[in-house]
Amino acid sequence: MKIRIAIDGPSGSGKSTLAKNIAKTLGLVYVDTGALYRTVGLFAKRNGVLLEEASKVTRFLPEAEISIRYTEEGQRVILNGEDVSNLIRTPEMSMYASAVSAVSSVRTFLLEIQKRMAAEGGVVMDGRDIGTVIMPDADVKLFVEASPKARARRRFEELQAKGDTSTEKEVLEDIIKRDANDKNRAVAPAIPADDAIFIDNSEMTPEETLAHSLMIIKEKLRRTL
Ligand code: C5P
Repeated sequence: MKIRIAIDGPSGSGKSTLAKNIAKTLGLVYVDTGALYRTVGLFAKRNGVLLEEASKVTRFLPEAEISIRYTEEGQRVILNGEDVSNLIRTPEMSMYASAVSAVSSVRTFLLEIQKRMAAEGGVVMDGRDIGTVIMPDADVKLFVEASPKARARRRFEELQAKGDTSTEKEVLEDIIKRDANDKNRAVAPAIPADDAIFIDNSEMTPEETLAHSLMIIKEKLRRTL
């Protein structure tokens, strides 16, 4: 059986670390859907679309070809033949991703690639609407949360390690802004699926979060098989 695990939650909740660890432990493919929205964000910026006018990206979408490739370094995102995986990991691209993700033409544009990967199975996908829209019939749905403070701290440390100069306060402000955008948008708002299992990992290490999640996954699969 090719299992499918959906992981949703806000930014900095540690869901991508968890998804990667689950994929490694269970031999599944990890699909980071946020990278797709970040790539559309980069594409929007390159086409002169301002953050406040994200819907203007719509008319450029026919010129964007986005694909995912797997290498030893993990998932890579390709935009019109260029590997943009590193370019999309900046605070500016986080905000662009959040802005374009509220545009319904962008969500429709990215639906097919995500649905295709979901249909193949043997995947752990993380994002904001995986349990509700992309894989409503996933075998296990997790919703990972942590306090805004804990999330800002993690993001800040991640960015610092990469040489980014944002302050922790700025990172926290961005997180709060993005949370509000993502939860309140009209299309595919970032809300938990009815049958999602909640994990608050504010006080957990990545290893503890993994162990706790594996227990939930095993229990869920035992009941459904
Ligand atoms: O997960 P990540 O922080 O890389 O996602 C960047 C942004 O992309 C999120 O803030 C959210 O607005 C958007 N997103 C989304 N749906 C997904 C994944 C990401 O709307 N499935």
